[in-house]
Amino acid sequence: MASAEIQRLWKLSQIDSGLVEIRLRAASLDIGKKIAAEIVELQKQDAEVGGKAKKLQADLTDLELSQKGIDEKLKRIDKQMYGGTLVNSREVENLQKEIAALKRQRDTNDEKILELWEVVPPAKAAADKIEQAIAAKTKALADRRKAAVAEKAALEAEFARLTKLRPDALRGITPGLMSRYDGIRNRMDGVGMADVTRTNSCGVCGTIIPERAFQNLIDEKVVTCESCHRILYYTEGLV
Ligand SMILES: [Zn+2]
Repeated sequence: MASAEIQRLWKLSQIDSGLVEIRLRAASLDIGKKIAAEIVELQKQDAEVGGKAKKLQADLTDLELSQKGIDEKLKRIDKQMYGGTLVNSREVENLQKEIAALKRQRDTNDEKILELWEVVPPAKAAADKIEQAIAAKTKALADRRKAAVAEKAALEAEFARLTKLRPDALRGITPGLMSRYDGIRNRMDGVGMADVTRTNSCGVCGTIIPERAFQNLIDEKVVTCESCHRILYYTEGLV
């Protein structure tokens, strides 16, 4: 069995280990960095795919407007032709040439419009898909950030709770043992003690405790692990 002082130190080390654990968890809190990076990636895709879809749609709109203009021009010429205002055949010939040119233009536009009708919907669908993915990821990011805020608050509350317990836990530990413990935990990532496992090894680094050191534990002496140098806590198979 460990001495009463070592038992108190063990309680203190449990608090300190808890504080270390909280610091580690706070440092590795997931605030959605991965999701944010995915959104940036999707936005790049959206700029490309969405830009392409918009360009195709704009081309289609331009062509449709152009067709409308051509139709109006043809109507105007038609009125001129049959309005009885033309005085010579030269004028008629010129108007017929103009009609032919406008019709050629209209046919070319029609071909282009048909092509665009094929490609605009799938381009739009692809852009919509990316935009939906961005919306979903943005929602996921907001949720993750909200959860992270809650997790942080919980960690802070637990940190405050453990910190409050510490002054009481310090009582009954001699300055000599305390400074030894502090020295070890400062060197060893904040964890200054280790329990002895059922297989008689150090509970932190796993090193087997030699026979003589084990006898010292039974004799309630302060024993450290010969490998990680943490103070050992032995409870005769209770751990
Ligand atoms: Zn060890």
